[in-house]
Amino acid sequence: MSETLQPVRGMNDVLPDDSAAWQSLERVARETFAEYGYREIRLPLLERTELFKRSIGEMTDIVEKEMYTFEDRGGDSLTLRPEATAGIVRACITNGLLHNQRQKVWCMGPMFRYERPQKGRYRQFHQIDVEALGYPGPDVDAELIMMSARLWRRLGLAGLRLNLNSLGTPESRKGYRAELVEYFLRHEAALDEDSKRRLGGNPLRILDTKNPAMREIVAGAPVITDYLDPESAAHFASLRAQLDGAGIEYVVNPRLVRGLDYYSRTVFEWVTTDLGSQDAVCSGGRYDGLVAQLGGAAAPAIGWALGEERIVELMRLQGRAGNDAAPHVYLALAGAAAEAVGLKLAESLRDAVPGLRIETNCGGGSFKAQLKRADRSGASHAVILGDDEVAQQVATLKPLREETGQRHVPLAGLAGELAQVLQARSRGQG
Ligand code: ATP
Ligand code: MG
Repeated sequence: MSETLQPVRGMNDVLPDDSAAWQSLERVARETFAEYGYREIRLPLLERTELFKRSIGEMTDIVEKEMYTFEDRGGDSLTLRPEATAGIVRACITNGLLHNQRQKVWCMGPMFRYERPQKGRYRQFHQIDVEALGYPGPDVDAELIMMSARLWRRLGLAGLRLNLNSLGTPESRKGYRAELVEYFLRHEAALDEDSKRRLGGNPLRILDTKNPAMREIVAGAPVITDYLDPESAAHFASLRAQLDGAGIEYVVNPRLVRGLDYYSRTVFEWVTTDLGSQDAVCSGGRYDGLVAQLGGAAAPAIGWALGEERIVELMRLQGRAGNDAAPHVYLALAGAAAEAVGLKLAESLRDAVPGLRIETNCGGGSFKAQLKRADRSGASHAVILGDDEVAQQVATLKPLREETGQRHVPLAGLAGELAQVLQARSRGQG
């Protein structure tokens, strides 16, 4: 026997038992975004490496050590997208979507980062991403946060907390940056290698360190909110007033700087205590300089991204994963005559009862085996068709989840019966 091929480390299969939760997350997200006037944008998984270097920043974990970069056969350096914002901005520029226009868009799909795989942290993971381009805020900042809060409500998720901060503008950050460098220089002996390197290039990155040994020194550093320029301070105050007015709770966390270089003003992160150390489920911020930095006409923008693996895990932990893709009815076919008409019967039932999910037994099997499959399928009812029943033009309708007995139903009346089953189920759920 040949050796079993192993999957790529840190890249997961979403198996059929788990896909219902993914589908319901993605469906609720699509519906919610449409309710706010955000439209889908679909982008390639590959971009030129240069795009991520120029947007995310050379001194970030992503660009320094996490990108899947390779040369294609034509000699171009390409990278599997580690996040969606850069590609969205690139697409808006190259398609002229920001010429006298603004855009509210979303996209979802896989992202790739060469990280150390652990629970909640993978090398291929999935994000749902929303961006508003051309909007200076703070109204749209508030709207984007409200939209995320509505998403948690619609998914039935509890216990998510919002951390909020403002980074000011790149100009106002200069004074802060100088103070920060001075502080870290005074504590240089305690810095790890990454931090020493970043001290010269981008000292704010040090605040974003994941190294527990650095926690104490980071906790003592000066805070950015003391250095905000007046416009950024007003922007932040207005955003907070909007959130207060909408009853959205948050904590101002002056240590929140976010992992990417391009943020300005508003940054935020939704965290949970249910997932252990991978506690951030959704994060975002304003990036007013990025469009111009990538060669477009200057346009302010803001967005957020949620990690689907972490949200799905939260749905599972909180009993919200659901299983709404299971069939309602399992059609068991006992005998050659039943098998000959089974598929056609199922087709006619699907025609007659919109929304009915009916799984037909394929591949034969004993009556007992078929009923076992019916039970495992998650269906609430089995419809059993034997050769005698075909001859008499009846079927047996058997409830699988309650004690009430099975009964014969004329084939002509079966669709009506199943429509009632479906109705009773949706009443029970509603
Ligand atoms: P973290 O601090 O956990 O590394 P991040 O700051 O790198 O997150 P972003 O780049 O802002 O995260 O991505 C947005 C969201 O995507 C995160 O809040 C998280 O839920 C999810 N995410 C990021 N990296 C991964 C990963 N490697 N595996 C699974 N989910 C991830
Ligand atoms: Mg990260």
